[in-house]
Amino acid sequence: MADFSPMMQQYFEIKNQHKDEILFYRIGDFYEMFYDDAITASRELDLTLTGKQCGKDERAPMCGVPFHSYETYMARLIAKGYKVAICEQVEDPAKAKGLVKRDIIRVVTPGTVIESSMLQDDRNNYIASIYVKDNRAGVCFADVSTGTAHITELKAEKIEVALITELCRYHPSEILMNPTMLNCREVTNYIKKNMTCSVELVEEARYAPGLVEIALSNQFGRDWARTTEIEAGGLVRFAMGALLEYLHDTQIKGVERLKTVQRYTEAQFMRLSPVTRANLELTETMRGREKRGTLLWVLDRTSTAMGKRMLRSWIEQPLVSSEVINHRLNAVERLVQETVTRGDLSETLRYVADIERLMTRTVYGSATPKEIYTLAQTCDRLPELKRLAADCNCSELTTLAGEIDPLEEIKARIYAAVDKDAPSTLKEGGVIAKGYNDEVDELRAIRENSKGVLAQMEARLRQETGIPKLKIGFNHVFGYFIEVSNSYKNMVPESYIRKQTLTGGERYITQELKELENKILGAHERLIALERRLFDELLEGISRELDRIQCTANAVAQLDVLVSLAQVAADNNYCRPVVDDSDELKIVEGRHPVVEQVLKGSLFVPNDTLLDCGDNRCLIITGPNMAGKSTYMRQNALIALMAQIGSFVPASECRVGVVDAVFTRVGASDDLAAGQSTFMVEMTEVAEILKSATRRSLVVLDEIGRGTSTFDGMSIARAVVEHIADPAKGLGCKTLFATHYHELTDLEGTIDGVKNYNIAVKKRGEDITFLRRIIRGPADDSYGIEVAKLAGLPGSVTRRAHEVLRTLEAAAPKNRVEQMDFDALQDYASPAVPSEVLDKLEALDVETLTPIEALNFLYELKKTL
Ligand code: ADP
Repeated sequence: MADFSPMMQQYFEIKNQHKDEILFYRIGDFYEMFYDDAITASRELDLTLTGKQCGKDERAPMCGVPFHSYETYMARLIAKGYKVAICEQVEDPAKAKGLVKRDIIRVVTPGTVIESSMLQDDRNNYIASIYVKDNRAGVCFADVSTGTAHITELKAEKIEVALITELCRYHPSEILMNPTMLNCREVTNYIKKNMTCSVELVEEARYAPGLVEIALSNQFGRDWARTTEIEAGGLVRFAMGALLEYLHDTQIKGVERLKTVQRYTEAQFMRLSPVTRANLELTETMRGREKRGTLLWVLDRTSTAMGKRMLRSWIEQPLVSSEVINHRLNAVERLVQETVTRGDLSETLRYVADIERLMTRTVYGSATPKEIYTLAQTCDRLPELKRLAADCNCSELTTLAGEIDPLEEIKARIYAAVDKDAPSTLKEGGVIAKGYNDEVDELRAIRENSKGVLAQMEARLRQETGIPKLKIGFNHVFGYFIEVSNSYKNMVPESYIRKQTLTGGERYITQELKELENKILGAHERLIALERRLFDELLEGISRELDRIQCTANAVAQLDVLVSLAQVAADNNYCRPVVDDSDELKIVEGRHPVVEQVLKGSLFVPNDTLLDCGDNRCLIITGPNMAGKSTYMRQNALIALMAQIGSFVPASECRVGVVDAVFTRVGASDDLAAGQSTFMVEMTEVAEILKSATRRSLVVLDEIGRGTSTFDGMSIARAVVEHIADPAKGLGCKTLFATHYHELTDLEGTIDGVKNYNIAVKKRGEDITFLRRIIRGPADDSYGIEVAKLAGLPGSVTRRAHEVLRTLEAAAPKNRVEQMDFDALQDYASPAVPSEVLDKLEALDVETLTPIEALNFLYELKKTL
């Protein structure tokens, strides 16, 4: 070690404490990386790898990024799953004696990012902390960038499933977990496979009750168990304690920003399994994972980033309390009626900055002058928002108006302190407004017109002393001096200090002149330092008002979401649903909110629905492929969900008896890559639904039992319908069930509450037209060949298919599926079964096969035989 240069020794001292992170080590205008960090960063960021003399014979591998643009480089590393420790020079290099002091000022991890360039405006960035014990867990999701945390205590027979559901609700980008979590293989596999987030295992020792107690007391006060909703005896305190410790370790400052802790229980929200969220395409499409084509895309007319984030979380968490839902609906209804006010609100909201995240950067001390100026500009709009909301004459909106604090004195303070053209850095000054601080004004005046100031002084001194030729001059040895020719020497005041004698005169300095000199020479640096200090003080002052600003931000975000929902409702002709605690789901002229938008121009055909827990419990829907079965089923689920968000719905009339959960099993969500056959996936999902649904749930099943032989599949489908629809046998919940098995239609009449519906088609010759209308009764045919023709199968093939069909029907005249003659089919069967088996075997790579894949493969083979 002694061989290394002093700077490298300092580097190693710091690096040793941050082995897991890439260390950005500030040297002058660059953040430099050394050794392995340099090699990794140069590879990941395409930087040139150079070397630095470090005292040893070999140069240390090094690469660097300019400090003024480090954020983009850091963002790329974070996105790739690395953590970055930022090491700053913590004293002025010009004033440092010897080596400049350096220290870590922050460790940036995916879940603790606060830079706006690294965050997406329209979504929260959560860091999760999970503490599992037996079948219980304390869970905490915190958004450092907005200072909010959501906590819940989970208890479930299968804690894994409950945990996965919560992770899907919040999509954290980083997860802290206790070592026991490693036993929850289902969760860790799920995270590995489906989530892009980094995972941090926290040692058990860090959950020691004493440590946790200290962390919580420091953050929320000794009284934390009373003032927050964290239970004194629960598991959340461990999760929260570990999270706070982690934040202190990584963030160093600003952790106090985490203030709002909201406790939720699963029972507050509609339960939505990860599969259902994906199937219903709430916030991202199944294919492409885009926003376009989702419910969020349709409902998002928000004007602010805060509103966008809140809308997303409303959609991800529909409510189950009809009372709370109706409060939201009251506000939306009023805003639908108030066309002009709604427009004014939208327009005003457009000027509102993301003050929630801005406050985080303020507390961290990293907000820029320009950003702080936008906070004041946002405040300008607050009285107008308050007035508009209050004018609506609706108690919910009046309450929101009451929560908006116009923040007058904060605004005044910012306008007084910050220059209107303030830059986005503090480097060059120009931050503090004129007239705010005398010293700033003076320093600026000095810098800008030092000649003028000197001339003024010269004139004044001439007058004071009566020496007409007194001159102020400058040289590099003495700095500024006063020169008097020999003839006036005796008129020089005593306070003048003689510095130099010339042949024709004398040079003096005075206290005042020295002060002026200091001012002139140091004016620039001092000005920058002073502006920084004043700005920091301003940030600190604003930080103290965090609660008020946060509360206002929250009210503004809600207002934005409500205005957005009203705007969508008005533009798309939605109606206010009646939301109550009945069992009914009644929809008149319902439409699919997304398909309707996509089809704009060509008309979407509306359909009615009546589901309840009595005579209309289970609708069996038949009809050809492409008729619109899935669309119809999803539209019903989405309408119920929209109503429970507090949104109007695409229908002419609607009543939603609150449902506690929506379950869907739709199409083939391909999980083959994970080594599961389509059939296995389908059955696992159905099993989960049967286990989790209650009488108050809405279940949507689309063609279950397809991945196996006809008889197996049909038997399973039938047994499932019986279980779900028949309260005597199982659940008795509201169910929509689409099937190709026409045989299931005779369940109507066998089980109470089962009703047949089909989606009408018109047949002319060999062609069919989809009418998209849902009508009572079973479908008369599945029109498979006609649909295949529509899809472009060649005429020769469809003609041949008709021939085959006729043969089969002749062999089984009554019911073509149930009594299908498989021997007759053999004549048309293409390749012999054994060769198919051989082909599969031949293509198999035994070396890379996992045991579960092997079992699945055997299972597949067996099926082909
Ligand atoms: P299925 O599930 O019966 O195979 P889909 O629900 O996938 O059929 O519908 C097929 C297509 O028909 C959809 O992509 C959609 O564009 C269109 N469609 C469905 N329902 C309607 C409707 N009510 N009005 C207009 N077009 C519809």
